Amino acid sequence: GTPLAILGAIGRAARQGSIIKGGIYLEALGHLDTVFLDKTGTLTYGMPMVTEISAAPGISEKAILKAAANAESGSEHPLGRAIVRFAEQQNIPVSHPADFEYRIGRGVLASLHGQQTIVGSRTLLAELGIDLTQRADAAQGTEVLVAQGGRYLGSILVTDQLRDSSAPAVKALTDMGIKVVLLTGDAKAVAEAVADRLGIIQAYSELLPEQKTTFIAEQVKKGRTVAMLGDGINDAPALSEATVGVAMGAGTDVARESADVVLIGNDLMKFVETVRIARNCRRIIF
Ligand code: ADP
Ligand code: MG
Repeated sequence: GTPLAILGAIGRAARQGSIIKGGIYLEALGHLDTVFLDKTGTLTYGMPMVTEISAAPGISEKAILKAAANAESGSEHPLGRAIVRFAEQQNIPVSHPADFEYRIGRGVLASLHGQQTIVGSRTLLAELGIDLTQRADAAQGTEVLVAQGGRYLGSILVTDQLRDSSAPAVKALTDMGIKVVLLTGDAKAVAEAVADRLGIIQAYSELLPEQKTTFIAEQVKKGRTVAMLGDGINDAPALSEATVGVAMGAGTDVARESADVVLIGNDLMKFVETVRIARNCRRIIF
């Protein structure tokens, strides 16, 4: 059976909102080397809002928003949802495209009234041959680029607020001697701005979901004890590769089911507290 000290520690963690699904994860958290943090939905609230629209010459902001909202109308991604919500607030009627394809970690392709619309990252638009020489990237938020009929229309700036618990949690983990690394599919400038504000020294950006997964798997193969915190939007496979996969309680069902630890209140300080509980328990029995 499970030693009482472990059951006690799991119970204490559960009472403060962190569900640990087994003694082995508690043990691993007691000697953690590195914590990998996803950005969107994990370090941020994952409730991004449209804050700016930049149009290419001769294009109206409304046309960009309408094209993007139609393309994203079936999207579950927080960026897509923010665009649709904003269009609705502006009383722009949103229609479902005849055809819709989600390119995971990149964006969406949709066709409506015989026109193809592309909404997503610079990488996605560049891959599809859209000429982007006219535009410069910004760093204040995530820029979603919009093209229609092979032509670049403009971009929609979407900003997502950092969780209040992100900065204190990163500081506490660093002070405990744990390496903290940011992993994101978002642009380099955005990753660097977030890392800067949180005091994270190592940040990897523009990662596709499978690259996050490979990265985590490599760390585990090297014998490191790593935790990965994510919300399950695009990072559920990476969570399952980590020694300890930690899902935000507000994340996807698949993340909560496949994770080893679930943070009920989405409070990153609860994770820090769980690591402290695990370390104390390890001192007693392991
Ligand atoms: P993160 O790693 O920060 O959680 P994602 O992997 O979910 O981010 O997304 C990475 C990038 O892919 C986004 O920053 C965005 O540029 C693009 N992207 C993903 N999904 C969409 C979408 N539905 N609409 C527009 N862009 C998207
Ligand atoms: Mg995410």
